[in-house]
Amino acid sequence: MIKLHDKLFKPFLGETRILNAVQKMAGDIAEDYKDDVPIFVGVLNGSFMFVSDFLKAYEYPCEVSFVKLSSYQGLTSTGIVETLLDVSENIEGRSVIILEDIIDTGRTLQKLVNLFSGANVKEFKIASLFYKPDVYNGEYVIDYVGLEIPDSFIVGYGLDYKELGRNLKEVYQLNQTNMINLVLFGKPGAGKGTQAGFLKEKYGLKHISTGDVFRFNMKNGTELGKLAKSYIDKGDLVPDEVTINMLKDEVEKNSDAAGFIFDGFPRTTAQAEALDNFLESKDMKIDATIALEADEDVLVARLLERGRESGRSDDQDESKIRNRFDEYNQKTAPLKDYYSKQGKFHSVNGIGQIAEITERLAKVIARFS
Ligand code: AMP
Repeated sequence: MIKLHDKLFKPFLGETRILNAVQKMAGDIAEDYKDDVPIFVGVLNGSFMFVSDFLKAYEYPCEVSFVKLSSYQGLTSTGIVETLLDVSENIEGRSVIILEDIIDTGRTLQKLVNLFSGANVKEFKIASLFYKPDVYNGEYVIDYVGLEIPDSFIVGYGLDYKELGRNLKEVYQLNQTNMINLVLFGKPGAGKGTQAGFLKEKYGLKHISTGDVFRFNMKNGTELGKLAKSYIDKGDLVPDEVTINMLKDEVEKNSDAAGFIFDGFPRTTAQAEALDNFLESKDMKIDATIALEADEDVLVARLLERGRESGRSDDQDESKIRNRFDEYNQKTAPLKDYYSKQGKFHSVNGIGQIAEITERLAKVIARFS
C-alpha cells in the first residue's frame, strides 16, 4: 500500500503486465502502419511514459508530437476539457494515431476527435493503454486498447493523483475498503439535505441529492431537466430508469470519493435493487440506511415555509406536498423492509435542534465505521 497526499493506493498492475500490453499495441499498430509514416500524438501529461515505451517498441518509421488537454482537478472529473496546446506540425494528409494513457467517460476523447475532425488527415485512430468499458459513454469506437480495467481510480505509469504518482513504474488502485456509503431516508422536509451537509463535512463524503441534480438540470434547461419538471411540479416521482441512470453518472463522476451520502435515492424498490447491483459491480456496498423520522403535519409546515423562502415549485401548496407524502408512503416506505432484511436499517428522531439530530446520526454511524 502507498500513500499519495491523503489517500491510500494498493498495487494493481505490475510493470511486466503493462509493458507486455504496450508491446502488443506497438506490434498491432505496426502491422497496420508499417508501410506508412504515422504521426503518433501523445496526450499530456499522463501519456508521457506510455509514449516513451511505445515508441521504443515501434520498429518502423514514425513521427511523434504531443497535445495537452485537461479535464481533471484532483481526483474528480470536472467535465471541463480544455485544450492547452495544439499540434503544430502540418498533419494534413497524414495518418494520425492518438496515444492516450486512459479513456474513462470519453469526454477528453470527444474533445480530441473534435480537435482533429477539421484537420483533413488521411486516417485518424485512437490507441489507449487503459480503457474503462463500464463508464465509457462516448460514441467513438476505440481502435487500439492495451488493457481493459474496471472503474476504479488508478495512479502510476504516468497517471497522477494531484500530480503525485506519475513516476511509479507500476499502476496502483485507490483503496476502497474504508469507504462509508450511507442512504439518508425520510419524507420530504425531514431534513435529509441539511443533515447531509453536515455529515459530508464530518466524514469527507460526497453528497448526491437526486432532487438537487434534477433542480440543477431544470434551472439549466437541459433535456433531463425538461423531462423531470413535469413530474416534479406535480409532486410525482420521476421514472426509475431516468433517475437510476442519472444516479450512476453521478457516482461515476466521483470514482475517487471516500464514500457517498445518497439523499433522496433510492425512492423505490427498483431503485434500491439497481443501487445494490451497481455498487456490487464496483466492489462497493451500502453500509447503512438512516431514516429521519418526523410527523407529516410538522413537515407540511416546514415545507410551506421553505417554499416561501426558496420559491421551490413543489413546496408551494399543501396538495402537492401531500401528494409527495403519498408517493413516499406507497413507493418509498417499503424500502424500510428491504434494508431491514439486510440488517442495515436505522431510525433516528428527526425533530429537534439541527446539531442534536447530527449527533444522533453520528452515533449510528459510529457503530459501523
Ligand atoms: P427532493 O429534493 O429529494 O425532495 O426531490 C424533489 C423531487 O425530485 C421529487 O419529488 C421527485 O419528483 C424528484 N426525485 C428526486 N429523487 C428522486 C428519485 N430517487 N426517484 C424519483 N424521483 C425523484
